[in-house]
Amino acid sequence: MSNRTVDVVVIGGGPAGTACAGRLGRAGLTVVLVERELVGGESAYWGGMPSKALLRPSEAIAEALRVPGAREIVRGELDSDAALRRRDTVIDSLDDNSWMAWLAERSVELVRGTASLAGHRRVRVGAETLAAHRAVVVATGTAPALPPVPGLADVDPWTNREATTATTVPGSLIVIGGGAVGVELAQAWTSLGAHVTLRVLAKFLAELLHGELARRAIIALGRLVDRFV
Ligand SMILES: Cc1cc2nc3c(=O)[nH]c(=O)nc-3n(C[C@H](O)[C@H](O)[C@H](O)COP(=O)(O)OP(=O)(O)OC[C@H]3O[C@@H](n4cnc5c(N)ncnc54)[C@H](O)[C@@H]3O)c2cc1C
Repeated sequence: MSNRTVDVVVIGGGPAGTACAGRLGRAGLTVVLVERELVGGESAYWGGMPSKALLRPSEAIAEALRVPGAREIVRGELDSDAALRRRDTVIDSLDDNSWMAWLAERSVELVRGTASLAGHRRVRVGAETLAAHRAVVVATGTAPALPPVPGLADVDPWTNREATTATTVPGSLIVIGGGAVGVELAQAWTSLGAHVTLRVLAKFLAELLHGELARRAIIALGRLVDRFV
């Protein structure tokens, strides 16, 4: 069991934790960032980055089709295999090595492992206890929650993780929930060739159709919405 003292311990290397650790490191504090999975967090590997990468090919095609002079060279179908390969590049094939230089530039030390709070400004990671002279920052994010839909757990449903890293396009997909993440993923997979059913509350759909999201979502929804619950 080893003990040492630094200025700040940041638990969690997602967007919040890395931004915080980086700024504090730049300001001259000694900072340890503790991460149990991948530096970059949900956003970089299972969130906005891969979902935008999945959406990008259809957006680029739509953009070209709007422009006379460019639309004439758009031929054939979207290549879903190439789109998935590009997604893998965007998420660095689930490797966070590219973050190491970023952390080093800011003098942030990375400790890999699961942190737990071990008293006032004390954090335990494996056999090591880190004492924070100034603060402990808890930036541990959230985890997906399964809604209480009877039978749902039995069908081994995708969460955002599977939905952003799947290596083949499913024949069909039901997306439960019409928030930003649900609509975005529904739109992405339908553009890649899946038959997608988006299940949303009717009340939410009314809000959606009056909202800013409507302009972008409506094209996809025309193909997506089979029925509402
Ligand atoms: C499909 C999808 C699309 C999205 N698109 C957007 C978008 O376009 N724009 C946007 O702003 N947001 C978007 N989001 C939301 C965004 O991903 C989250 O808001 C963001 O990741 C939250 O950052 P965070 O740092 O709070 O948490 P996280 O990214 O969850 O990071 C928390 C980190 O803490 C680590 N951790 C947890 N517990 C411990 C522990 N005990 N010890 C050590 N490490 C621990 C985890 O491993 C994780 O790396 C999207 C999300 C999804 C799912």
